[in-house]
Amino acid sequence: MKAITSLIILVALITLGLKSNADPKIEYKEISFTDSVQKKVVDPVCKMKIKPNVAKSSVYKKTTYYFCSEGCKQKFMATPSKYVPTK
Ligand SMILES: [Zn+2]
Repeated sequence: MKAITSLIILVALITLGLKSNADPKIEYKEISFTDSVQKKVVDPVCKMKIKPNVAKSSVYKKTTYYFCSEGCKQKFMATPSKYVPTK
């Protein structure tokens, strides 16, 4: 019985230890850092992550969309409703 109790305490300690080790603040910092340094956008056609400064862009319904290539831009412009989620 004593062994079981100490086992439960051990498991609880490990669980708590793991929770404190996995610091969500660090992860958040990394995301915001990457975001500010090189903001990436998602091509709505092929879902590829691209940098806006090298991407092809197009404005549809007052929103700028970015594409990896002219081909994706053409696909988007042909049927924008297919790629833009309708609210
Ligand atoms: Zn693309």
